[in-house]
Amino acid sequence: MVRDVSVPLGEDVQLVRFLYCDFSGVTRGKAVHAKHLARKLREGVGLTRAQMAMNLLDELCPVDGMEPVGEIRLIPDLATLRTLPWDRRSASVYCDQVGQDGEDWGACPRGFLRHAAEKLAAVGIEVQASFENEFYLAREAEGRYAPFDHAPVYSAIGLDLSADVMHDIVEALEEQGLDVAQSINEYGAGQHEISIAPATPLAAGDRQMRLRDTVRGVALRHGLLASFAAKPFPAEVGSGAHIHFSLWRGGKNLMYDPANPGRLSETGLHFVGGILSHLRALTALTCPNYNSYRRLQPHAWASAYVSWGYDNRETAVRVASPFRGSEEETFNAELKTSDPSANPYLALGGLLLAGLDGLERGVEPGAPCLHDPALLESADREALGILPLPPSMREALQELEADRVLMDGMGDFLSRAYLTVRRSEEQAFSAQDTDFEISRHFYRF
Ligand code: GLU
Ligand code: MG
Repeated sequence: MVRDVSVPLGEDVQLVRFLYCDFSGVTRGKAVHAKHLARKLREGVGLTRAQMAMNLLDELCPVDGMEPVGEIRLIPDLATLRTLPWDRRSASVYCDQVGQDGEDWGACPRGFLRHAAEKLAAVGIEVQASFENEFYLAREAEGRYAPFDHAPVYSAIGLDLSADVMHDIVEALEEQGLDVAQSINEYGAGQHEISIAPATPLAAGDRQMRLRDTVRGVALRHGLLASFAAKPFPAEVGSGAHIHFSLWRGGKNLMYDPANPGRLSETGLHFVGGILSHLRALTALTCPNYNSYRRLQPHAWASAYVSWGYDNRETAVRVASPFRGSEEETFNAELKTSDPSANPYLALGGLLLAGLDGLERGVEPGAPCLHDPALLESADREALGILPLPPSMREALQELEADRVLMDGMGDFLSRAYLTVRRSEEQAFSAQDTDFEISRHFYRF
């Protein structure tokens, strides 16, 4: 094939997908013929402004500035260009959304995360983050969905039953440079988990996009559907995408202080305090879909309360114990109040802004929770300042709208558009039944 560009593309690549993540968490984009790549890398691909006002149901929502009039451009970040191992005639690249002037048009999720990371960099903090994904493998027959298998959690039989598809998934992730740490047969029927190495925030967001796209793409080649919805099977456990994070300066882990009980430093405490103080609002970004609120229940290791603890799998923030011999290197915390249907740029960007606010205000997170918060007497929860998470998308969006730090961080255009699109989904789904909800959460993310 004739090429006018020297980028690392597979020989057979014919189409290059210029991708972005919409507010609902759906990967969307346009594919460009490889022979035009050099030009398109420069000028970008045009997209109507209205496209970001499209909700999960492909309905156009009324957002000022996002009418089907006028265009933005998808400008690819070449560092993210990869040939797709499950379709070698395709490559993909993740894009920024800019206006005709070449500047962020004010509603680019990737730009939002970049700015949030820059705010931390401005106070000398580098972040390392990764999304720890759970997802379901399923089969579809006549519009009904059934889990791929029914193996016991962490079982060898589960690993055997899913070996063909999971080996292909892991190989495809590795080939694209995502460093796979673990692949687990999870608790739910057909549920799996893959964890990958941490990276800088923007790279972590891009990797989350690539991981979801890859798992879905490879699963399809095996005649399976992969779902990154929070609870695609209402009777099974939910899927989390816990966000692991650590803070660094000059090779030093700022969250690690062996002299402190639990080893969480003052900086770490304040960052966690910031996340908790914004968590009820942040949930609208990290657990953002109608279906997400089925997952945030007690006793499901998914978090149901604004709380934190050391290796406590029921708290929203779990400070993970480090590995022996590499304590400082591996010390990190995870936000469990996060699921894989989220737009990763908005979810991680929101987490960073909340944590930074905690650093700036010196927010104390209170005492760590030593038990499952749901098992405490309500008076004890109150004494520890443990509030419930929002029970629904509707309430989470109200919290977000009232949160000045997150709303100002998103800016007027992005926040207004996000709230409008999400509220339209909340209205549509709350008027329908569970079957409708589940069917509209397959083939999305
Ligand atoms: N499935 C749980 C969730 O929804 C997480 C289980 C685990 O800790 O691995 O977040
Ligand atoms: Mg898990």
